[in-house]
Amino acid sequence: MGSIVKITIFQRIIIVQCTLIAVIVLASYYAIFNLDEITRLNTRILTVDSTCVAEEKRLLKIFLGEMRNAEKFLVLHDQDFYSNFLQSSTDFISSVERIGTLVETPEEHKLVDKIETLHSRYNEGIHSATPGIDEGKETRSEISDDLISSTNELIRLREQIIQAKTSDARDQAIYASKMMGWLAFGGISLALLLAYTQARSISRPLNRLAREMRRLAKGEPVRSLAFRAPPEVSELAETFYSMIEELNELERLKADFTAHVSHELRTPLTAIREGTALLLEEIPGPLNPEQMEILEVMRNHSGRLHSTISSILDLSKMEAEMMEYEQTACDVYTLIHRSLENVRLIAEKRRVTLHTHLSESLPIVFVDERRIQQVMENLFSNALKFVPEGGEIRVTAGVTEPGNKNGSFVEIRVSDNGRGIPEQDIDKIFTKFFQSPKHRTQRLRGTGLGLAICRHIIHAHKGRIWAESRFGEGSTFVFTLPAGCSRKTSGDRV
Ligand code: ADP
Repeated sequence: MGSIVKITIFQRIIIVQCTLIAVIVLASYYAIFNLDEITRLNTRILTVDSTCVAEEKRLLKIFLGEMRNAEKFLVLHDQDFYSNFLQSSTDFISSVERIGTLVETPEEHKLVDKIETLHSRYNEGIHSATPGIDEGKETRSEISDDLISSTNELIRLREQIIQAKTSDARDQAIYASKMMGWLAFGGISLALLLAYTQARSISRPLNRLAREMRRLAKGEPVRSLAFRAPPEVSELAETFYSMIEELNELERLKADFTAHVSHELRTPLTAIREGTALLLEEIPGPLNPEQMEILEVMRNHSGRLHSTISSILDLSKMEAEMMEYEQTACDVYTLIHRSLENVRLIAEKRRVTLHTHLSESLPIVFVDERRIQQVMENLFSNALKFVPEGGEIRVTAGVTEPGNKNGSFVEIRVSDNGRGIPEQDIDKIFTKFFQSPKHRTQRLRGTGLGLAICRHIIHAHKGRIWAESRFGEGSTFVFTLPAGCSRKTSGDRV
């Protein structure tokens, strides 16, 4: 037994549950981590990067205003334009400073520095210019063009960064959702596999145990219970096994006792039967009619007792596998007709019609003729017992092709239109001493041993026997015998 077998059912359930929980926790942790990361990226785009672009655009606007005021001042010498120019210049400086704190790449920092330098050069040009005589106009125009294009370049760079970050966030979201999908798929598959294997490792031995219990209930031999199972089930199997052992022991003691008592009864009973026969033949002296009647009753009862004892002894022998079967090649057709002849008188007395449908090409069977005839007579007399007066019994025989290496079988079916067998009794009727409660209350003759003996005989011949019935609609008893098997020497056990 592997180490996994030692794991109890309780532990198995806990393992499966913990795996499921671990999968859920892992997937949730991964999802939260990725969601955080994507949110962080998006927040940065929305707060820092967008603010940065807006500020850069404002810077451009401030500079254009500053430029307009400066040029007007230089042409018109109006102090209002000058003070507006100074105000714009201050705004420009503080805006550049703010942008300096927002930008990230060295390229952007370089551009910010350049803009600062260009701005101070532009301002110097304004301060040094003599109103009315504008000599530095061309230089200022060059500086302002350079400053405007540098600011535009700064805006372009930041917009590129925003685009890159947005596509990063999108890629990350796609990757995360894919990973989540795989994680969920893998985790669920693992959890399902684990749940399936564990559930199977629990249900399989339990089913097997239940199957063996059903076999025991049907009176069939229980197979080995040494199978891989969780400790709780193994314990249950062991308890069940020791229960079977005890039952078998009890059964053996009971069988021994019955066989012993029957054996002890047979000798005096034989003496009684022979004595009665002698008296009835009037060998010791003549009898009057009353004496004859009493002796007749004695003969009948001792005869029944003798056949019951013989059945018990036969069954004991069969159970101990000590019964000898003398196999000879037999014709099924003759066997059936000879058995029917033996019950024909009773059938006529009860006005029961016997129908036969026997296949024309029935093969020879190698069987113990006396025992197989015993099976047939038992089935016929049971049918006669249970059909109503004027009923019907149908005997059919044919060959079945099971389509496997066991070859073909002769199948004999005995059907009657009697009261049938209740569904719950169908599996029990082949157990020894079983009689349906109705059978017992109606005081029909029988010992409950007939079908048990039939089953032993048929199994010993490697055949099968079973009953099919619908309560209230009659019953059919079926048995099979291997067709044309090789002949064994007389006296061989089958
Ligand atoms: P018995 O010798 O008491 O008839 P059997 O072993 O032959 O014992 O039969 C066992 C039980 O099977 C009977 O008590 C009866 O309930 C049932 N049985 C057998 N044959 C038939 C049948 N043809 N129709 C209905 N019940 C049957």
